[in-house]
Amino acid sequence: MLSRMKVIVVGCSPAWPNPGGAQSGYLVEGSGRILLDCGPGVLPRLREQEAWPQVDAIVISHFHLDHWGDVVPWCWGSQYGPGRTLPRAQLWVPPAGSGELGSFGKHFGSEGMFKQAFELHEYRGGEPFAINGLSVTPMRVPHYDIETYGFRVTDGERTLAYSGDSAPSGALVELARDADLFLCEATLAEVGAGETALRGHLAAEEAIDAFEQSGAKRLVIIHRPHELGLDEGLERAADGDVFDV
Ligand SMILES: [Zn+2]
Repeated sequence: MLSRMKVIVVGCSPAWPNPGGAQSGYLVEGSGRILLDCGPGVLPRLREQEAWPQVDAIVISHFHLDHWGDVVPWCWGSQYGPGRTLPRAQLWVPPAGSGELGSFGKHFGSEGMFKQAFELHEYRGGEPFAINGLSVTPMRVPHYDIETYGFRVTDGERTLAYSGDSAPSGALVELARDADLFLCEATLAEVGAGETALRGHLAAEEAIDAFEQSGAKRLVIIHRPHELGLDEGLERAADGDVFDV
């Protein structure tokens, strides 16, 4: 029997890093290994465990830097460093993301750097894709004016839901529907704090609200600034935590 799917919190900092923290990176391990987001600090954390991280795929929720920045050094190490003898990992990005990576590449190295380093794929909202026995379904969530997705990952028995960055929304509730574990952001000190015309994040009470409406079984709060408290009784992820899904 295959072992139960688990998720390792590589980093769970928000847009600025918590003390000693890495930014967004959640490593799902089951029949395959999938890294959900790869923000700054995630790659060195993974390298503490293995000379070069062997993952089947990296899946990026959106192109805010705190969710994908370490894909850049990953390119260099996988082509010229310790990763060069390993098979190329898949890199899954939002629709039209290959074009975006091409333009980022022009500034960071070369236009083709991401295509050379990874087997590049664009996912589509609502369309599941399979990675080594795990199924990933990207679901669009509202996050300011940037195209952003959360993910459901299932091994057929258990389901993990990851909010990505999201404003309050029915789409977020559906993302988490009946999941065994819901990793949900709670970036804000209070509802709408610092947000003007467009909402992009959740206060803790909004994360709880989405969780309660979704029927998900367990809520763990992520992407929360160290400076902000959280009510007792709520579970808050820390870098290095491992959760059975
Ligand atoms: Zn974001």
